[in-house]
Amino acid sequence: MNKICVIGTGYVGLVSGVCFAEIGNKVTCADIDVDKIEKLKNGIMPIYENGLKEMCSRNYKNNSIEFTTDIKYAVQNNDIIFIAVGTPPLPDGNADLSAVKTVSAEIAQYINGYKIVVNKSTVPVGTQKMVKKIISGIQSKYDFDVISNPEFLREGTAVYDTMNMNRAVIGSESETATEIMLELHKPFKCECLITTPESAEIIKYAANSFLATKITFINEIANLCELVGADVKDVSKGIGMDPRISPDFLKAGIGYGGGCFPKDTMALLKMAENYRYDFKILRNVIEVNKLQRLRIIDKLKETLVSIDNKLITVLGLAFKAGTDDMRESPAIEIIDFIQKSNGKVRAFDPCAMERAKNIFNSIEYTDDAYSAVKDADAVVIITDWDEFKHLDLKHMKELMHGNTVIDGRNIFPFDEMIKLDFDYHCIGRSK
Ligand code: NAD
Repeated sequence: MNKICVIGTGYVGLVSGVCFAEIGNKVTCADIDVDKIEKLKNGIMPIYENGLKEMCSRNYKNNSIEFTTDIKYAVQNNDIIFIAVGTPPLPDGNADLSAVKTVSAEIAQYINGYKIVVNKSTVPVGTQKMVKKIISGIQSKYDFDVISNPEFLREGTAVYDTMNMNRAVIGSESETATEIMLELHKPFKCECLITTPESAEIIKYAANSFLATKITFINEIANLCELVGADVKDVSKGIGMDPRISPDFLKAGIGYGGGCFPKDTMALLKMAENYRYDFKILRNVIEVNKLQRLRIIDKLKETLVSIDNKLITVLGLAFKAGTDDMRESPAIEIIDFIQKSNGKVRAFDPCAMERAKNIFNSIEYTDDAYSAVKDADAVVIITDWDEFKHLDLKHMKELMHGNTVIDGRNIFPFDEMIKLDFDYHCIGRSK
């Protein structure tokens, strides 16, 4: 059993902390957000992740996990200290490392024996060295090692991904710390890649940027399919059957969003720029992804001609299914456009409405999808929640005032939509 503390109790920190407790460690989750920690102490999850609440409650009852805002206590009572704070983009696109720096200084201030400091946050190359420098600049009494251990979980399946992780990347300069990290990951039965901190740091950005590129590539193919009369779903299937390509991340749609891909592609581009390298393909990926969102807006404009006073229903607010995360969700830009065009917005999302209310308080929220589409002039699909895929389309048509559906996720059967006389517009398939 290891004594672990995770500083930063967000999507990554909370899920990692709970899963480390689940495999038999004693975990302290620490955060500066008092409200979040209070909620957790009362069994309320600050985020939605499938299976998280049950696993967290079980381990909290067993005393395997605790929650605190006391960083000194968290550092002094544990041997392995994970940093899982946010690294949001600065206005220029570089990663904001201020939270990582603050936490590093706090660790240095409170250190009371040998500690392994493990950075799980997504950070540019050189951050492991920076953390080391901050800690040794403040204290020289105690030994410590700093490891880079990027996180690969996906929001929506974060608990499953952690419990079934396929790899752990351990960027280390210390044999002792590497051994402890290998031991810690043994119950996950995953492959462990031991590498330098620099390689570990770039692996995370390279992985996310590669996936963002794959999504962007299929979106460009989809746009071409619309022009030449091909069906991108079949094209994706056809190329995904090649094991060198694989079918994953080949769903054409509205473009990538969320708290990771947009900021990580931008941070990698900036990192390259800082080393005077022009990462051309990535620059274009970022640009094309922005345009992909605008295509949905264009389809809406072309179909409705005028948005003025029209009721537009937005189904799905989260950036993807399975999460309540609205960071960089295409819904934000699309709702903003409708409101600026004098349209009325009604929205429904099975999980993200509470978060959405902090962004848009002047739109109408409903309790279910059917109430949302009632009397709508047009429906826009933003998130591919399963419950939207199973909507009774005939009933939806009867409830609507108009017949326009802009499907940003290709969730509805094309032929059926046409047969039901919807004015149906999706991605990469045309009439
Ligand atoms: P998040 O915003 O959900 O959580 C970050 C937490 O850190 C917040 O609870 C915040 O209050 C806390 N925090 C900030 N400053 C702090 C401080 N000084 N002391 C203590 N706590 C502090 O972010 P997240 O989505 O969990 O991401 C964390 C890191 O992991 C980021 O670098 C992100 O890029 C990376 N990552 C995220 C995902 C994902 O799917 N969300 C996946 C892999 C990696």
